[in-house]
Amino acid sequence: MSTSQWLPIRDIAAKVNGGELKAVDLVERALSTIAEKEEFAAILATTEVRARARAQEIDARVSRGEHAGSLAGVPFIAKDNFLVFGAETTAASNILKGFDAPYQSTAIEKLEAAGAICVAKANLDAFAHGSSTENSDFMVTKNPHDITRVPGGSSGGSAAAVILDMAPFALGTDTGGSIRLPASFCGAVGYKPTYGLVSRSGVVAMASSTDVIGPMTRTVDDAAVVLNVMAGRDPLDSTTIDREDDDYTSFSGDLKGKKVGVIKEYMAEGLSTGVREQIESAIEKMRTAGAEIIEVSLPTLPAALAVYYIICPAEVSSNLSRYDGQKYGYTYDQAADLAESYSKTRSTGFGKEAKRRIIIGTYVLSSGYYDAYYKKAQTVRTKLIAEFAAAFEQVDFLVGPTAPTPAFKIGEHSSDPLQMYLTDIMTVAVNLVGVPAISIPAGTSEGLPVGLQIIAAQRQDKDLLATAKAAEGLLA
Ligand code: GLN
Repeated sequence: MSTSQWLPIRDIAAKVNGGELKAVDLVERALSTIAEKEEFAAILATTEVRARARAQEIDARVSRGEHAGSLAGVPFIAKDNFLVFGAETTAASNILKGFDAPYQSTAIEKLEAAGAICVAKANLDAFAHGSSTENSDFMVTKNPHDITRVPGGSSGGSAAAVILDMAPFALGTDTGGSIRLPASFCGAVGYKPTYGLVSRSGVVAMASSTDVIGPMTRTVDDAAVVLNVMAGRDPLDSTTIDREDDDYTSFSGDLKGKKVGVIKEYMAEGLSTGVREQIESAIEKMRTAGAEIIEVSLPTLPAALAVYYIICPAEVSSNLSRYDGQKYGYTYDQAADLAESYSKTRSTGFGKEAKRRIIIGTYVLSSGYYDAYYKKAQTVRTKLIAEFAAAFEQVDFLVGPTAPTPAFKIGEHSSDPLQMYLTDIMTVAVNLVGVPAISIPAGTSEGLPVGLQIIAAQRQDKDLLATAKAAEGLLA
Protein backbone atom coordinates (compact mmCIF):
# COMPACT_ATOMS: atom_id res chain seq x y z
CA MET A 1 0.00 0.00 0.00
CA SER A 2 1.30 3.44 -0.87
CA THR A 3 1.83 5.71 2.08
CA SER A 4 -0.97 8.06 3.00
CA GLN A 5 -0.94 11.73 3.89
CA TRP A 6 -3.52 10.85 6.57
CA LEU A 7 -2.72 9.50 10.00
CA PRO A 8 -4.87 6.68 11.38
CA ILE A 9 -8.36 8.11 12.05
CA ARG A 10 -8.04 7.71 15.82
CA ASP A 11 -4.80 9.72 15.82
CA ILE A 12 -6.26 12.51 13.68
CA ALA A 13 -9.17 12.90 16.10
CA ALA A 14 -6.85 12.79 19.13
CA LYS A 15 -4.64 15.51 17.64
CA VAL A 16 -7.63 17.69 16.75
CA ASN A 17 -9.01 17.29 20.27
CA GLY A 18 -5.54 18.06 21.65
CA GLY A 19 -5.23 21.22 19.55
CA GLU A 20 -2.23 19.88 17.58
CA LEU A 21 -4.17 19.68 14.32
CA LYS A 22 -6.83 22.08 13.09
CA ALA A 23 -10.01 20.77 11.49
CA VAL A 24 -9.92 23.71 9.06
CA ASP A 25 -6.51 22.58 7.76
CA LEU A 26 -7.66 18.99 7.38
CA VAL A 27 -10.67 20.09 5.36
CA GLU A 28 -8.45 22.26 3.12
CA ARG A 29 -6.09 19.35 2.63
CA ALA A 30 -8.97 17.09 1.58
CA LEU A 31 -10.42 19.71 -0.77
CA SER A 32 -7.09 20.43 -2.41
CA THR A 33 -6.39 16.71 -2.96
CA ILE A 34 -9.83 16.36 -4.53
CA ALA A 35 -9.07 19.28 -6.86
CA GLU A 36 -5.61 17.92 -7.77
CA LYS A 37 -6.99 14.50 -8.68
CA GLU A 38 -9.98 15.56 -10.72
CA GLU A 39 -8.93 13.44 -13.72
CA PHE A 40 -9.99 10.28 -11.85
CA ALA A 41 -13.60 11.49 -11.80
CA ALA A 42 -14.20 10.10 -8.30
CA ILE A 43 -16.12 13.10 -6.99
CA LEU A 44 -19.46 14.47 -8.17
CA ALA A 45 -19.59 17.52 -5.89
CA THR A 46 -17.92 18.98 -2.86
CA THR A 47 -19.75 20.32 0.18
CA GLU A 48 -17.02 22.87 0.74
CA VAL A 49 -19.00 25.77 2.17
CA ARG A 50 -20.67 23.64 4.79
CA ALA A 51 -17.49 21.61 5.43
CA ARG A 52 -15.44 24.74 6.10
CA ALA A 53 -18.08 26.09 8.46
CA ARG A 54 -18.25 22.81 10.35
CA ALA A 55 -14.47 22.69 10.64
CA GLN A 56 -14.46 26.14 12.20
CA GLU A 57 -17.10 25.06 14.69
CA ILE A 58 -15.04 22.04 15.70
CA ASP A 59 -11.88 24.10 16.14
CA ALA A 60 -13.89 26.60 18.20
CA ARG A 61 -15.20 23.81 20.44
CA VAL A 62 -11.67 22.56 21.01
CA SER A 63 -10.43 26.03 21.84
CA ARG A 64 -13.22 26.34 24.41
CA GLY A 65 -11.78 23.21 26.03
CA GLU A 66 -14.56 20.87 24.88
CA HIS A 67 -14.02 17.34 23.56
CA ALA A 68 -15.10 17.45 19.91
CA GLY A 69 -15.80 13.71 19.50
CA SER A 70 -14.13 10.44 18.54
CA LEU A 71 -13.89 11.60 14.90
CA ALA A 72 -13.14 15.26 15.62
CA GLY A 73 -12.16 17.05 12.42
CA VAL A 74 -11.84 13.88 10.32
CA PRO A 75 -12.86 14.63 6.70
CA PHE A 76 -14.80 11.97 4.82
CA ILE A 77 -16.54 11.41 1.49
CA ALA A 78 -20.07 10.01 1.12
CA LYS A 79 -21.30 8.02 -1.85
CA ASP A 80 -23.86 10.23 -3.57
CA ASN A 81 -26.77 8.02 -2.52
CA PHE A 82 -26.52 9.35 1.06
CA LEU A 83 -28.67 12.35 1.90
CA VAL A 84 -26.21 15.02 2.96
CA PHE A 85 -26.60 18.78 3.41
CA GLY A 86 -24.35 21.07 1.41
CA ALA A 87 -24.64 19.52 -2.08
CA GLU A 88 -27.41 17.93 -4.08
CA THR A 89 -28.06 14.19 -3.74
CA THR A 90 -28.35 12.58 -7.19
CA ALA A 91 -27.44 8.89 -6.76
CA ALA A 92 -25.61 9.65 -10.06
CA SER A 93 -28.96 9.61 -11.89
CA ASN A 94 -30.41 12.34 -14.09
CA ILE A 95 -33.78 11.79 -12.49
CA LEU A 96 -32.50 13.19 -9.17
CA LYS A 97 -30.68 16.19 -10.67
CA GLY A 98 -31.35 19.24 -8.55
CA PHE A 99 -32.55 17.30 -5.50
CA ASP A 100 -31.52 18.89 -2.21
CA ALA A 101 -31.82 16.63 0.82
CA PRO A 102 -34.50 17.82 3.27
CA TYR A 103 -32.78 15.86 6.07
CA GLN A 104 -29.54 13.90 6.45
CA SER A 105 -28.96 10.16 6.64
CA THR A 106 -28.75 8.77 10.16
CA ALA A 107 -25.22 7.56 9.41
CA ILE A 108 -24.17 11.08 8.42
CA GLU A 109 -25.85 12.55 11.51
CA LYS A 110 -24.02 10.11 13.76
CA LEU A 111 -20.67 10.77 12.09
CA GLU A 112 -21.21 14.51 12.38
CA ALA A 113 -22.18 14.17 16.04
CA ALA A 114 -18.80 12.45 16.53
CA GLY A 115 -17.04 15.41 14.86
CA ALA A 116 -16.43 14.02 11.35
CA ILE A 117 -16.84 16.37 8.38
CA CYS A 118 -18.32 15.34 5.03
CA VAL A 119 -16.36 17.14 2.33
CA ALA A 120 -17.69 15.62 -0.89
CA LYS A 121 -20.08 13.25 -2.65
CA ALA A 122 -18.59 10.34 -4.58
CA ASN A 123 -19.57 8.97 -7.97
CA LEU A 124 -21.42 5.64 -8.30
CA ASP A 125 -23.32 3.59 -10.80
CA ALA A 126 -26.70 5.35 -10.96
CA PHE A 127 -28.85 4.15 -8.05
CA ALA A 128 -25.97 1.78 -7.18
CA HIS A 129 -26.85 -0.51 -10.08
CA GLY A 130 -23.55 -1.79 -11.37
CA SER A 131 -20.05 -3.05 -10.76
CA SER A 132 -17.87 -0.47 -12.49
CA THR A 133 -19.33 3.11 -12.14
CA GLU A 134 -19.85 3.03 -15.91
CA ASN A 135 -23.60 3.17 -15.24
CA SER A 136 -23.27 6.63 -13.67
CA ASP A 137 -25.32 9.11 -15.71
CA PHE A 138 -22.56 11.70 -15.26
CA MET A 139 -19.05 10.24 -15.60
CA VAL A 140 -16.90 7.12 -15.32
CA THR A 141 -14.52 6.96 -12.37
CA LYS A 142 -11.01 5.76 -13.19
CA ASN A 143 -9.05 3.17 -11.23
CA PRO A 144 -6.29 4.90 -9.18
CA HIS A 145 -3.77 2.23 -10.26
CA ASP A 146 -4.53 2.37 -13.99
CA ILE A 147 -6.57 5.13 -15.54
CA THR A 148 -7.75 2.84 -18.36
CA ARG A 149 -9.51 0.53 -15.91
CA VAL A 150 -12.68 0.70 -13.82
CA PRO A 151 -12.53 1.18 -10.05
CA GLY A 152 -15.29 -1.40 -9.53
CA GLY A 153 -18.73 -0.46 -8.40
CA SER A 154 -21.08 0.63 -7.46
CA SER A 155 -19.16 2.52 -4.74
CA GLY A 156 -16.30 3.11 -7.19
CA GLY A 157 -15.97 6.82 -6.46
CA SER A 158 -15.69 6.11 -2.73
CA ALA A 159 -13.03 3.41 -3.15
CA ALA A 160 -11.00 5.50 -5.60
CA ALA A 161 -11.26 8.55 -3.32
CA VAL A 162 -9.77 6.63 -0.39
CA ILE A 163 -6.87 5.26 -2.42
CA LEU A 164 -6.30 8.67 -4.07
CA ASP A 165 -5.94 9.92 -0.48
CA MET A 166 -8.72 12.49 -0.76
CA ALA A 167 -9.96 11.70 2.75
CA PRO A 168 -9.21 9.19 5.51
CA PHE A 169 -12.46 7.34 4.84
CA ALA A 170 -15.48 7.14 2.59
CA LEU A 171 -18.92 5.64 2.90
CA GLY A 172 -20.33 3.09 0.52
CA THR A 173 -23.43 0.94 0.19
CA ASP A 174 -23.43 -2.78 -0.44
CA THR A 175 -26.55 -4.42 -1.87
CA GLY A 176 -24.76 -7.14 -3.80
CA GLY A 177 -21.09 -6.33 -3.29
CA SER A 178 -20.80 -2.61 -3.94
CA ILE A 179 -18.47 -1.94 -1.01
CA ARG A 180 -16.32 -5.05 -1.29
CA LEU A 181 -15.89 -5.16 -5.07
CA PRO A 182 -14.52 -1.63 -5.54
CA ALA A 183 -12.42 -2.06 -2.40
CA SER A 184 -10.92 -5.12 -4.04
CA PHE A 185 -10.34 -3.39 -7.41
CA CYS A 186 -8.78 -0.29 -5.84
CA GLY A 187 -6.79 -1.89 -3.00
CA ALA A 188 -8.92 -0.54 -0.15
CA VAL A 189 -10.55 -2.12 2.87
CA GLY A 190 -14.32 -2.41 2.38
CA TYR A 191 -16.57 -3.44 5.24
CA LYS A 192 -20.10 -4.78 4.77
CA PRO A 193 -21.72 -5.05 8.22
CA THR A 194 -24.38 -7.54 9.32
CA TYR A 195 -27.71 -6.64 7.69
CA GLY A 196 -29.46 -4.18 9.99
CA LEU A 197 -26.42 -3.18 12.06
CA VAL A 198 -26.20 0.27 10.45
CA SER A 199 -29.26 2.40 9.73
CA ARG A 200 -30.16 3.05 6.10
CA SER A 201 -32.46 5.92 6.92
CA GLY A 202 -31.70 8.69 4.46
CA VAL A 203 -29.89 6.45 1.98
CA VAL A 204 -31.45 6.04 -1.47
CA ALA A 205 -33.01 2.56 -1.37
CA MET A 206 -31.97 -0.05 -3.92
CA ALA A 207 -33.00 -3.56 -2.76
CA SER A 208 -34.25 -3.15 0.78
CA SER A 209 -33.82 -6.78 1.86
CA THR A 210 -30.07 -6.66 1.17
CA ASP A 211 -29.02 -2.96 1.31
CA VAL A 212 -26.39 -2.15 3.93
CA ILE A 213 -23.99 0.73 4.34
CA GLY A 214 -20.42 0.61 5.52
CA PRO A 215 -16.97 2.20 5.64
CA MET A 216 -14.24 2.16 3.00
CA THR A 217 -10.79 2.82 4.39
CA ARG A 218 -7.10 2.02 4.06
CA THR A 219 -6.95 -0.14 7.17
CA VAL A 220 -9.15 -2.49 9.17
CA ASP A 221 -8.60 -0.34 12.26
CA ASP A 222 -10.03 2.68 10.50
CA ALA A 223 -13.05 0.67 9.31
CA ALA A 224 -13.74 -0.41 12.90
CA VAL A 225 -13.45 3.16 14.19
CA VAL A 226 -16.05 4.34 11.66
CA LEU A 227 -18.37 1.36 12.19
CA ASN A 228 -18.21 2.02 15.91
CA VAL A 229 -19.85 5.40 15.41
CA MET A 230 -22.50 4.26 12.92
CA ALA A 231 -23.71 0.93 14.35
CA GLY A 232 -26.90 0.45 16.31
CA ARG A 233 -30.66 0.61 16.36
CA ASP A 234 -32.36 3.59 14.76
CA PRO A 235 -36.07 4.37 15.17
CA LEU A 236 -36.02 5.69 11.60
CA ASP A 237 -35.07 2.28 10.15
CA SER A 238 -37.19 -0.56 11.48
CA THR A 239 -34.79 -3.19 10.15
CA THR A 240 -31.98 -2.07 12.46
CA ILE A 241 -30.77 -4.28 15.29
CA ASP A 242 -29.14 -3.55 18.63
CA ARG A 243 -25.41 -3.44 18.52
CA GLU A 244 -23.72 -6.56 19.73
CA ASP A 245 -20.72 -4.72 21.14
CA ASP A 246 -20.27 -1.41 22.86
CA ASP A 247 -16.92 -1.04 21.22
CA TYR A 248 -16.07 -2.47 17.81
CA THR A 249 -12.51 -1.16 18.05
CA SER A 250 -11.27 -2.99 21.13
CA PHE A 251 -10.07 -6.13 19.40
CA SER A 252 -6.82 -7.95 19.30
CA GLY A 253 -6.12 -9.89 16.16
CA ASP A 254 -5.00 -13.47 16.49
CA LEU A 255 -5.54 -16.32 14.05
CA LYS A 256 -4.39 -19.10 16.37
CA GLY A 257 -6.96 -21.85 16.62
CA LYS A 258 -9.43 -20.07 14.34
CA LYS A 259 -11.26 -22.38 11.98
CA VAL A 260 -11.24 -20.88 8.52
CA GLY A 261 -13.30 -22.43 5.73
CA VAL A 262 -12.10 -21.95 2.17
CA ILE A 263 -15.16 -21.75 -0.07
CA LYS A 264 -14.74 -24.49 -2.64
CA GLU A 265 -17.20 -22.98 -5.12
CA TYR A 266 -15.27 -19.67 -5.19
CA MET A 267 -11.94 -21.35 -5.90
CA ALA A 268 -13.33 -23.12 -8.95
CA GLU A 269 -13.28 -22.53 -12.70
CA GLY A 270 -13.52 -18.93 -13.84
CA LEU A 271 -11.13 -17.61 -11.22
CA SER A 272 -8.18 -15.87 -12.87
CA THR A 273 -4.79 -17.46 -12.28
CA GLY A 274 -3.34 -14.31 -10.76
CA VAL A 275 -6.18 -13.92 -8.27
CA ARG A 276 -6.03 -17.62 -7.38
CA GLU A 277 -2.30 -17.37 -6.63
CA GLN A 278 -2.76 -14.40 -4.32
CA ILE A 279 -5.70 -15.94 -2.47
CA GLU A 280 -3.95 -19.28 -2.06
CA SER A 281 -0.87 -17.54 -0.75
CA ALA A 282 -3.00 -15.48 1.69
CA ILE A 283 -4.64 -18.68 2.96
CA GLU A 284 -1.23 -20.31 3.40
CA LYS A 285 -0.09 -17.35 5.48
CA MET A 286 -3.20 -17.69 7.64
CA ARG A 287 -2.40 -21.37 8.12
CA THR A 288 1.18 -20.57 9.13
CA ALA A 289 -0.16 -18.04 11.62
CA GLY A 290 -2.09 -20.81 13.36
CA ALA A 291 -5.46 -20.92 11.64
CA GLU A 292 -6.97 -24.31 10.91
CA ILE A 293 -7.84 -24.32 7.21
CA ILE A 294 -10.76 -26.47 6.08
CA GLU A 295 -12.36 -26.70 2.65
CA VAL A 296 -16.08 -25.93 2.83
CA SER A 297 -18.67 -26.56 0.15
CA LEU A 298 -21.88 -24.55 -0.12
CA PRO A 299 -23.62 -26.45 -2.92
CA THR A 300 -26.30 -23.82 -3.60
CA LEU A 301 -23.74 -21.05 -4.04
CA PRO A 302 -23.58 -21.30 -7.85
CA ALA A 303 -27.29 -20.34 -7.92
CA ALA A 304 -26.77 -17.19 -5.83
CA LEU A 305 -26.12 -14.87 -8.76
CA ALA A 306 -29.35 -15.89 -10.52
CA VAL A 307 -31.28 -15.54 -7.27
CA TYR A 308 -29.83 -12.09 -6.67
CA TYR A 309 -30.61 -10.90 -10.19
CA ILE A 310 -34.27 -11.82 -9.64
CA ILE A 311 -34.77 -10.52 -6.09
CA CYS A 312 -32.72 -7.37 -6.58
CA PRO A 313 -34.60 -6.08 -9.68
CA ALA A 314 -37.93 -7.03 -8.04
CA GLU A 315 -37.12 -4.77 -5.10
CA VAL A 316 -35.55 -2.12 -7.34
CA SER A 317 -38.71 -1.91 -9.45
CA SER A 318 -40.69 -1.20 -6.31
CA ASN A 319 -38.20 1.26 -4.77
CA LEU A 320 -37.82 3.25 -8.00
CA SER A 321 -41.57 3.71 -8.42
CA ARG A 322 -41.39 6.83 -6.24
CA TYR A 323 -39.41 8.75 -8.87
CA ASP A 324 -42.21 10.14 -10.99
CA GLY A 325 -41.18 13.77 -11.26
CA GLN A 326 -43.60 15.05 -8.66
CA LYS A 327 -41.54 14.95 -5.47
CA TYR A 328 -37.84 14.59 -6.19
CA GLY A 329 -35.36 16.21 -8.53
CA TYR A 330 -36.03 16.33 -12.25
CA THR A 331 -39.48 16.82 -13.84
CA TYR A 332 -40.19 16.67 -17.56
CA ASP A 333 -41.70 20.10 -17.97
CA GLN A 334 -43.55 19.91 -21.29
CA ALA A 335 -46.13 17.30 -20.37
CA ALA A 336 -49.76 17.90 -21.32
CA ASP A 337 -51.09 16.12 -18.25
CA LEU A 338 -50.03 14.18 -15.17
CA ALA A 339 -49.88 10.78 -16.87
CA GLU A 340 -47.57 12.17 -19.53
CA SER A 341 -45.48 13.89 -16.86
CA TYR A 342 -44.95 10.54 -15.09
CA SER A 343 -44.06 8.63 -18.20
CA LYS A 344 -41.85 11.30 -19.81
CA THR A 345 -40.04 12.02 -16.53
CA ARG A 346 -39.29 8.34 -16.07
CA SER A 347 -38.41 7.59 -19.69
CA THR A 348 -36.06 10.57 -20.02
CA GLY A 349 -34.80 10.61 -16.40
CA PHE A 350 -33.78 7.00 -15.83
CA GLY A 351 -30.72 5.53 -17.53
CA LYS A 352 -30.54 2.20 -19.35
CA GLU A 353 -29.65 0.01 -16.39
CA ALA A 354 -32.38 1.41 -14.11
CA LYS A 355 -34.91 0.77 -16.88
CA ARG A 356 -33.58 -2.75 -17.42
CA ARG A 357 -34.04 -3.52 -13.72
CA ILE A 358 -37.50 -1.97 -13.57
CA ILE A 359 -38.60 -4.11 -16.52
CA ILE A 360 -37.03 -7.35 -15.19
CA GLY A 361 -38.33 -6.65 -11.68
CA THR A 362 -41.85 -5.94 -12.84
CA TYR A 363 -41.77 -9.08 -14.97
CA VAL A 364 -40.63 -11.44 -12.18
CA LEU A 365 -43.29 -10.03 -9.84
CA SER A 366 -46.11 -10.16 -12.37
CA SER A 367 -48.93 -12.64 -11.96
CA GLY A 368 -48.18 -15.76 -13.94
CA TYR A 369 -44.40 -15.37 -13.50
CA TYR A 370 -44.22 -14.65 -9.77
CA ASP A 371 -44.14 -18.34 -8.79
CA ALA A 372 -41.66 -19.31 -11.49
CA TYR A 373 -39.16 -16.56 -10.69
CA TYR A 374 -39.63 -14.53 -7.53
CA LYS A 375 -41.04 -17.26 -5.31
CA LYS A 376 -38.51 -19.80 -6.53
CA ALA A 377 -35.68 -17.34 -5.95
CA GLN A 378 -36.87 -16.80 -2.37
CA THR A 379 -36.94 -20.57 -1.82
CA VAL A 380 -33.36 -20.91 -3.03
CA ARG A 381 -32.39 -17.92 -0.88
CA THR A 382 -33.74 -19.76 2.19
CA LYS A 383 -31.64 -22.76 1.21
CA LEU A 384 -28.54 -20.57 0.96
CA ILE A 385 -29.22 -19.13 4.41
CA ALA A 386 -29.42 -22.68 5.81
CA GLU A 387 -26.18 -23.70 4.09
CA PHE A 388 -24.32 -20.71 5.48
CA ALA A 389 -25.71 -21.42 8.95
CA ALA A 390 -24.53 -25.03 8.69
CA ALA A 391 -21.09 -23.88 7.51
CA PHE A 392 -20.78 -21.59 10.52
CA GLU A 393 -21.43 -24.56 12.81
CA GLN A 394 -18.24 -26.00 11.35
CA VAL A 395 -15.98 -22.96 10.94
CA ASP A 396 -15.54 -19.48 12.44
CA PHE A 397 -14.99 -17.71 9.11
CA LEU A 398 -15.29 -18.33 5.42
CA VAL A 399 -12.72 -17.01 2.96
CA GLY A 400 -12.29 -16.65 -0.76
CA PRO A 401 -11.61 -14.01 -3.38
CA THR A 402 -13.81 -10.90 -3.51
CA ALA A 403 -13.87 -10.94 -7.30
CA PRO A 404 -12.84 -13.47 -9.96
CA THR A 405 -10.48 -11.04 -11.72
CA PRO A 406 -8.64 -7.79 -11.02
CA ALA A 407 -10.12 -4.52 -12.34
CA PHE A 408 -11.18 -4.79 -15.97
CA LYS A 409 -10.80 -2.20 -18.71
CA ILE A 410 -13.27 0.63 -19.07
CA GLY A 411 -15.73 -0.47 -21.78
CA GLU A 412 -14.81 -4.16 -21.55
CA HIS A 413 -18.20 -5.27 -20.19
CA SER A 414 -20.36 -2.22 -20.72
CA SER A 415 -22.18 -3.52 -23.77
CA ASP A 416 -22.94 -6.90 -22.16
CA PRO A 417 -24.98 -6.69 -18.94
CA LEU A 418 -24.61 -10.43 -18.25
CA GLN A 419 -20.80 -10.18 -18.28
CA MET A 420 -21.10 -7.24 -15.91
CA TYR A 421 -23.40 -9.19 -13.59
CA LEU A 422 -20.84 -12.04 -13.49
CA THR A 423 -18.41 -9.68 -11.75
CA ASP A 424 -20.64 -10.04 -8.67
CA ILE A 425 -20.47 -13.82 -8.53
CA MET A 426 -18.48 -13.89 -5.28
CA THR A 427 -20.20 -11.08 -3.42
CA VAL A 428 -23.98 -11.43 -3.78
CA ALA A 429 -24.53 -14.51 -1.59
CA VAL A 430 -23.35 -12.61 1.48
CA ASN A 431 -26.10 -10.02 0.90
CA LEU A 432 -28.80 -12.61 0.33
CA VAL A 433 -27.82 -14.26 3.63
CA GLY A 434 -27.34 -11.00 5.57
CA VAL A 435 -23.95 -11.90 7.05
CA PRO A 436 -21.02 -9.49 7.51
CA ALA A 437 -18.02 -9.60 5.16
CA ILE A 438 -14.88 -7.63 4.47
CA SER A 439 -12.54 -7.24 1.54
CA ILE A 440 -8.90 -6.56 2.40
CA PRO A 441 -5.97 -6.07 0.04
CA ALA A 442 -4.13 -9.33 -0.69
CA GLY A 443 -1.31 -8.58 -3.12
CA THR A 444 -1.52 -7.79 -6.80
CA SER A 445 -2.03 -9.51 -10.11
CA GLU A 446 -0.73 -7.81 -13.28
CA GLY A 447 0.06 -4.82 -11.08
CA LEU A 448 -3.57 -4.51 -9.97
CA PRO A 449 -4.93 -5.07 -6.46
CA VAL A 450 -6.56 -8.35 -5.43
CA GLY A 451 -9.03 -8.55 -2.56
CA LEU A 452 -9.38 -11.32 0.02
CA GLN A 453 -12.94 -11.70 1.24
CA ILE A 454 -13.57 -12.87 4.81
CA ILE A 455 -17.12 -13.69 5.86
CA ALA A 456 -18.54 -14.31 9.34
CA ALA A 457 -21.86 -15.38 10.81
CA GLN A 458 -24.51 -12.75 11.55
CA ARG A 459 -23.61 -10.30 14.33
CA GLN A 460 -20.00 -11.53 14.51
CA ASP A 461 -18.82 -8.16 13.25
CA LYS A 462 -16.28 -7.61 15.98
CA ASP A 463 -14.67 -11.04 15.57
CA LEU A 464 -14.63 -10.54 11.84
CA LEU A 465 -12.79 -7.24 12.23
CA ALA A 466 -10.31 -8.87 14.62
CA THR A 467 -9.56 -11.66 12.17
CA ALA A 468 -9.37 -9.25 9.24
CA LYS A 469 -6.87 -7.20 11.19
CA ALA A 470 -4.75 -10.25 11.88
CA ALA A 471 -4.90 -11.23 8.19
CA GLU A 472 -4.08 -7.65 7.14
CA GLY A 473 -0.92 -7.85 9.24
CA LEU A 474 0.16 -11.02 7.42
CA LEU A 475 -0.57 -9.66 3.94
CA ALA A 476 0.95 -6.19 4.29
N1 GLN B 1 -23.14 -5.03 -8.74
C1 GLN B 1 -24.35 -5.39 -8.07
C2 GLN B 1 -25.54 -4.90 -8.84
O1 GLN B 1 -25.34 -4.25 -9.83
C3 GLN B 1 -24.34 -4.87 -6.65
C4 GLN B 1 -24.72 -3.47 -6.53
C5 GLN B 1 -24.67 -2.96 -5.13
O2 GLN B 1 -24.21 -3.64 -4.22
N2 GLN B 1 -25.21 -1.78 -4.95
O3 GLN B 1 -26.65 -5.15 -8.47
